[in-house]
Amino acid sequence: MTAALKVKGLSAAVSNKQILQDLDLEVPYGEIHAIMGPNGSGKSTLCHVLTGKTGYEVQGEATLDDVDLFSLSVDERSRLGLLQSFQYPTQVPGVRLREFLLEASDERGIGPDEAAARIEDEAERFDTTRFLDRSLNNDLSGGEKKRSEIFQMAVLRPKLALLDEIDSGLDIDAVRQVSEAVESMRSPDLGVVMITHYSRILRYLMPDRIHVMIDGRIVASGGAELAEELDTGGYESVRERLGLQRASGEPVRKASDFFTDTPFDV
Ligand code: ADP
Ligand code: MG
Repeated sequence: MTAALKVKGLSAAVSNKQILQDLDLEVPYGEIHAIMGPNGSGKSTLCHVLTGKTGYEVQGEATLDDVDLFSLSVDERSRLGLLQSFQYPTQVPGVRLREFLLEASDERGIGPDEAAARIEDEAERFDTTRFLDRSLNNDLSGGEKKRSEIFQMAVLRPKLALLDEIDSGLDIDAVRQVSEAVESMRSPDLGVVMITHYSRILRYLMPDRIHVMIDGRIVASGGAELAEELDTGGYESVRERLGLQRASGEPVRKASDFFTDTPFDV
């Protein structure tokens, strides 16, 4: 089967600053992959480059369903089935969630009857019916916003979902709910890239593969054993094992920092 996402030798720079360096990543359909890394390692940049945000000097290859993403416009990429959730979901007063989803469905070639039926069904499944006639993301708690995003994903049914900082700003109960919602999205037609710099989400959701990103590169990939290493030794353990230098001035983090709610390098 073709992979949902294939990235090969991807490098990206912005204003002469090299952010991504020769990055390889493959996410098969049906799988959930986590990309974990300290702040500033390039995780959001990877999402921006894949979705087509302008301003980056990009080299390398990225395909979705074997189609070259870099030959497509932002809209063409979303029609092809790429969806990115926002790192901090924005509030859009005036546009109701239902109208937004009908429009987004139309842009993706989903007919109005089909879209309306999906909205009703998925709203029931994700308990978001009462959000439908409210302004987009308005007056929702952090956890409700993330749940609303996963509901939007369930309606639009992308082939590849990039979930940036899916657990940021959430209390532990909301992390659990969002994890369950992501897990419930698992489907043979979907690849998920879940980005985080906390490891606490791994208490509730074990991805098929975990990738550690440091300084714009994927430096380690693995399964439960890598989660365990991150849990006990943090990124420092991975760096040490691989003989990677820490950038000067970067604070040392202890293992015990890893399972707190404090981001790594604030
Ligand atoms: P992450 O999401 O892993 O925290 P980012 O991808 O947001 O990391 O950023 C990676 C690095 O690139 C950071 O050092 C950040 O300051 C830098 N960076 C990101 N965007 C820009 C930009 N537009 N101009 C200059 N530097 C940037
Ligand atoms: Mg980020």
